[in-house]
Amino acid sequence: ARPVVAIVGRPNVGKSTIFNRLIGDRLAIVEDKPGITRDRIYGVSEWNGKPFSVIDTGGIEIDGDDVILKSIRMQAELAIEEADVIVFMCDAKSGLTQSDEEVAQILFRSGKPIVLAVNKVDNLSRHDEIYEFYSLGFGDPIPISGSHGTGIGDLLDAIVEIL
Ligand code: GDP
Ligand code: MG
Repeated sequence: ARPVVAIVGRPNVGKSTIFNRLIGDRLAIVEDKPGITRDRIYGVSEWNGKPFSVIDTGGIEIDGDDVILKSIRMQAELAIEEADVIVFMCDAKSGLTQSDEEVAQILFRSGKPIVLAVNKVDNLSRHDEIYEFYSLGFGDPIPISGSHGTGIGDLLDAIVEIL
């Protein structure tokens, strides 16, 4: 079977945008599992001749702080079970948040390989905003912009290196 890459992060950091960048014009499959309140979206991709599956773990975002935190936690745990590599996504525009740290704790305990991507680095002036993400303890944050498509090659290099 293809190795599985899961994109995990709190709502609105740009997971779905990056998911679409990763699968390009290939088809995404929406899987609605009974008993699980979230849809997950699967797609396939490849980089340097290495094929892999991608999961966008935030199919539906529910409002309300408590619910959001619970569902992020659940998504992270599901992704951990299935994934060979986890792309942990944060957002340079909003900076590091409490929810990011909550997700980081879950991911850290999993022992799975984590690639830390900081999205919304839309221009060079925002590049310095990636440094605070070193404190998460997942190594070098990879600056990306889903809007502009920059940094996606670096992200793919980091993913494929682990597969
Ligand atoms: P998700 O909730 O994590 O799946 O995030 P989405 O992919 O739905 O994106 C959330 C919002 O952020 C949308 O309004 C996107 O257009 C916006 N967004 C995504 N990527 C970028 C980016 O690189 N730069 C900026 N400025 N906005 C982005
Ligand atoms: Mg989404």
